[in-house]
Amino acid sequence: MTTAATNSVPDDRRLNGSAPAVARGSAVPSVCLECGGPLPAAGEAIFCASTCRAAFNNRRAKRGAELYDLYMAHRFDRAAATDAKVISLMNRLASNYRRQDQDQRAGRRSWRPLRAVLADHPSLRAVVVWRGKSKGPQA
Ligand SMILES: [Zn+2]
Repeated sequence: MTTAATNSVPDDRRLNGSAPAVARGSAVPSVCLECGGPLPAAGEAIFCASTCRAAFNNRRAKRGAELYDLYMAHRFDRAAATDAKVISLMNRLASNYRRQDQDQRAGRRSWRPLRAVLADHPSLRAVVVWRGKSKGPQA
């Protein structure tokens, strides 16, 4: 039996089950993200077992690989991607993933919070303030 408690997944939890570097006041999940089962009593684990963590991460990796080729075609083979309606295909895949998640367990969230993803890649949000040429070494 599952509960809606899985909807309160902390945004800044890491997928290896470790606690975040900086707590942000999020509620600790009361059930395993993967199976919905009880978590260890102590600590800030988000999975009940290494098998659940592996299953969660393996599913994300498989889904990511499926989306990767479509996205790269969208980005670098635009004409063919437009003809094939690649964005619609990606959206359909995402909807299928979501349906599979819900079929597995109501309220199951199988993706990382955007805030956590952005925190892992701070350079993606960097702003270029100057792109001028260097004068090189002084003579
Ligand atoms: Zn579990």
